[in-house]
Amino acid sequence: MKPELSVVIPIYNEQAGLAALFARLYPALDAMRIGYEIVFVNDGSRDNSVSILAEQFRQRPDVTRVVLFNGNYGQHMAILAGFEAARGEIMVTLDADLQNPPEEIHNLVAKMREGYDYVGSIRRKRQDSAWRTLASKMMNRIREKITNIKITDQGNMLRAYGRNVIDLVNQCAEVNTFVPALAYTFARKPTEITVEHEERAAGESKYSLYSLIRLNFDLVTGFSLIPLQMFSMLGMALSAGSALLVAFLLLRRFALGAEAEGVFTLFAIAFFFMGVILFGIGLLGEYVGRIFQQVRARPRYVVQTILQQHGAGQHELLSDAVEKRTVGR
Ligand code: UDP
Ligand code: MG
Repeated sequence: MKPELSVVIPIYNEQAGLAALFARLYPALDAMRIGYEIVFVNDGSRDNSVSILAEQFRQRPDVTRVVLFNGNYGQHMAILAGFEAARGEIMVTLDADLQNPPEEIHNLVAKMREGYDYVGSIRRKRQDSAWRTLASKMMNRIREKITNIKITDQGNMLRAYGRNVIDLVNQCAEVNTFVPALAYTFARKPTEITVEHEERAAGESKYSLYSLIRLNFDLVTGFSLIPLQMFSMLGMALSAGSALLVAFLLLRRFALGAEAEGVFTLFAIAFFFMGVILFGIGLLGEYVGRIFQQVRARPRYVVQTILQQHGAGQHELLSDAVEKRTVGR
């Protein structure tokens, strides 16, 4: 029998916090009195997360399923694999570190039942370091300007999606993507609610500054060409500006004779533009690199095993997983 609700949770080296997660998640879902399943996706953890998940599967095999990757493919790939395996009509994603309170799932589902097919969430008070919050606010602004995606709080993964949205997401073959934005593009009737946000219960953030920058490039390049177009515009404006400068200097040359001052100003301007040019080439590279990964068409992730109870859907799901391994697009 298909559950009404599927909760998808990516796990990467979360051994320290999993027990606390289970202790709040299962009671919160049991209290909702609907058919549910929890799909944990282990994203190649190198700690004891897998054995803790396997033990939890033994405790609650009726509602627990565990997808095991053979390596680390990133949070968003893990969520996508969870979507492939999940069978519910409503999907909810959340983080494993209890930053998204499981008790909020109830509110997301209630909102979905009002007829929405995408319920995003806005953190009432974000409990992350000051620099993360600030950088994330800035990226939110930039993304708002250059994409058509209307998400108030993009970094927050506590969201609910309808089956219609997930079916379309499952058809996508993007190698680098940002799940909330991708799903948003398919939603017919999206909305948002405000939710609580807590400090990480245990362990540390799995995102380094580097991986955060990469993730934001995924978001920007995956959903907009405006950065490239801005560079063409900038190039045109600069060409026009320097043409005027040449004309001006030529006139000066005739009026005042040879001059050789302001060499350092010239250097400063030249270095500034070199920076702009390098950034432009780098940006172009971001797009080209993604095209390259896409055309190679390697599998996006490899599912090693799925721990789940024998019964309806299992056979079909396993063969799905095998297919994904070989097709990958
Ligand atoms: N995560 C993952 N793969 C990764 C990095 C993170 O599956 O490569 C999971 C992680 O276990 C957690 C969620 O993604 O459940 C969010 O990660 P984290 O809390 O470290 O991110 P932050 O809250 O700092 O944005
Ligand atoms: Mg977190």
